[in-house]
Amino acid sequence: MQSLSKSIEQFIYPQYCNFCNAPLSETEQLYCSKCRVNDVQYSKLGNWVLQLKTHQNLDYAHSFYWFGEVIQTYIHHLKYFGWNAFLPRLINNAVREIDLPNEASGAVVIPIPLHRIRQRDRGFNQAQAIASELAQQWNLMVDYEILKRGKYTKSQTALSTSEREKNMYMAFHITKPPPRAVLLIDDVLTTGSTADACARQLREGGSRWVGVVTLATPKKKKIFR
Ligand SMILES: [Zn+2]
Repeated sequence: MQSLSKSIEQFIYPQYCNFCNAPLSETEQLYCSKCRVNDVQYSKLGNWVLQLKTHQNLDYAHSFYWFGEVIQTYIHHLKYFGWNAFLPRLINNAVREIDLPNEASGAVVIPIPLHRIRQRDRGFNQAQAIASELAQQWNLMVDYEILKRGKYTKSQTALSTSEREKNMYMAFHITKPPPRAVLLIDDVLTTGSTADACARQLREGGSRWVGVVTLATPKKKKIFR
C-alpha cells in the first residue's frame, strides 16, 4: 500500500532537487545537474595507499570522489534499491581522471564481497555493480567467485587493533588460486582494513600485486594516520 501511494505521488508531483528544490528534468535524478556538479568532486588523491591506516598488503589505493552528500545518496540508492542509473556516467568521468599503474594492466577486477547473509537480505552488492562497470571501462576481466566472505569469528568490539585485523582477515577466504594482479573494488574506502584483509588472503594464495579502487572516500582528516 505504501509503495503504491508512493508511486502515485511520484506520478502526480514532479521531482525536485534535494538541495535547491528546482524541478528536475527527465534525465536528472535526486539532484539537479547544477547541484550535482557542485557537490560531486574528484578527490585527486592519486595513489594514497601509504596514507591508509592499514595497508601492509596493498600496493595501490585510489578513491575517485569525495564522499559528499550526492555520492552518499547515490550509494545509498545503489545499496538498498539496486538503483544504478548514475553509475556509468560517474565511472566514465572518473576513469578519464586517472591512469592505472602499469602493474594493473591485465589485473582481474574483484569486488569486495558482502557477508553472504547481508547480501541475501539486501539482494545486492554495491561493490559488484561498481566492479562490473569499471571492468567494462578498463577492459579488464571481473571475477565474483574467487573471494568470499564468511562471518567474524569473534565480535569486533572487545578486540585490540591487531586482533581485529586478524579477525577481519579470517572473515575472507579464496576459493581458487587467485590471479597475479588484482584490483579490489568497493564503494567507500576509509581505514583500508577490509581491503587489506582481502589483499592478505589473495597474496597468501599467490597474487603478487593487489590494489584497491573505490568510488569514494570521506573527506575527514581523522582517517589519516
Ligand atoms: Zn539543485
